[in-house]
Amino acid sequence: MSIISPTSWSAGTAELASLDDFIHALDAEISASGESAAVAVLVLSLRRTDRIAALTLPEYAGQVRQCFLERIQPVLRDKDKLVFVSEDECWLMLPQLTSEALAILAVHRLLNELSKPLKVAAQTIFFNPSIGIACAPMHGNSAVSLLRVADSAQKSAQRDNEKFLMPQARAGQSVMPDNLLVVLEEVLDANRLTMRYQPKVDLHSNRVVSVEALVRWPSDHPLTIETTHLIDIAERCGLIELLTMRVFNQVLHEVVNWRSAGMEMLVWVNLSARLLSHEQLPKILARILSIWDVPASSIGLEITESALIHDIEHTTNLLFELKDMGFHLSIDDFGTGYSSLAYLRRFPIDELKIDRMFIHGMTDSVQDKQIVQSIIGLAHNFGLPVVAEGVEDEKTLTALELLGCDQIQGFWFAKPMHGDQLMRWCNEFHRTVKR
Ligand code: C2E
Ligand code: MG
Ligand code: MG
Repeated sequence: MSIISPTSWSAGTAELASLDDFIHALDAEISASGESAAVAVLVLSLRRTDRIAALTLPEYAGQVRQCFLERIQPVLRDKDKLVFVSEDECWLMLPQLTSEALAILAVHRLLNELSKPLKVAAQTIFFNPSIGIACAPMHGNSAVSLLRVADSAQKSAQRDNEKFLMPQARAGQSVMPDNLLVVLEEVLDANRLTMRYQPKVDLHSNRVVSVEALVRWPSDHPLTIETTHLIDIAERCGLIELLTMRVFNQVLHEVVNWRSAGMEMLVWVNLSARLLSHEQLPKILARILSIWDVPASSIGLEITESALIHDIEHTTNLLFELKDMGFHLSIDDFGTGYSSLAYLRRFPIDELKIDRMFIHGMTDSVQDKQIVQSIIGLAHNFGLPVVAEGVEDEKTLTALELLGCDQIQGFWFAKPMHGDQLMRWCNEFHRTVKR
């Protein structure tokens, strides 16, 4: 690997290091974690379109690095470290991972950020990244051995036109991500995923107005897999379509059960970014709805802000088509992307959900509270109701109420629950109104 003028950076959430610091810190993390946690190293080749400008104009290169760091920092944790080894390559260290698969999750998020061009001054820079991943203790027990594995993985990924590669473990050790693919296929084939439903409460009427459907890994399975992790793996290995169809079938089945018990309930289903580019999506959804004889108006689709801004023209057409079919539409995790609300207003959306990251922070951080306040103000200017997710205590609830937030979803009211508990819970809630 060629190393050209490694540079030290010291801004932002990820603590960034010089090359020597990086290697020392990596060795220290590897010895500190032993077998109890994984430490991942990523060799990231950017393959940027402005490489020559970056090599010849140092000031410009510095500016681009700063923008690049700002872009990827939301993906990194405080304990992660990064060093540039050349204008076109950086190394990242992700310590204290409970599973190697989390490195893959981080890689996905990085690739997602790098799929959007970076605009610096008059330049638009595109990346065609490839990432090599190595983890201790799986691939080695020293900084140098890990870097060697990650470097060669990056080169193989680039050669095979893959976005990333994590090599197989040494014989006798399990490779979590590969196992997961097989295991996930089995679980999907056997239709063993389950659903939970979390109420959204309207603060003006104190009524449950809808629920969000959240998928769960089977609780009786020997492996435990978090939902975000499950979705990430399904997206990565092309199983997200199947997973979503399984989710829709279960949700619609539940809606039919609730209806026959006398409960009409709007259910919000999360739609993965990848599905937005699926040409058949409206047709497939229409078919499932007709099988269960449920109108689209009983279903809302939650789409994350970042998913919307990939291919604006296509997404706008698709959302209008889904809207015309009768689906409700919501922008999920608002505030984490880079889009302005004015920009998003071109989409036919019915509500906006503020990411729970800001909600968690708002009673302690003035900045988070200001962000929440300005999102609510802006959304109301556009005539959009706002949902706050992740409300865990009364203090946050009261603060949101004072800011004029419309709906609340969070553990304070209810954790996601089984479909057959929902009706009883709603009746009880409406009788007592927990406030
Ligand atoms: P999301 O759509 O933003 O869903 C809200 C997440 O916040 C859920 O996590 C929910 O359990 C959690 N949550 C709600 N209230 C609170 C609270 O008061 N405190 C805390 N700490 N958390 C709260 P969950 O179920 O783990 O889902 C994570 C993400 O996975 C979801 O985020 C969504 O993006 C995705 N997801 C879940 N189910 C599906 C699905 O069926 N399909 C797809 N494509 N994605 C799904
Ligand atoms: Mg959601
Ligand atoms: Mg959300």
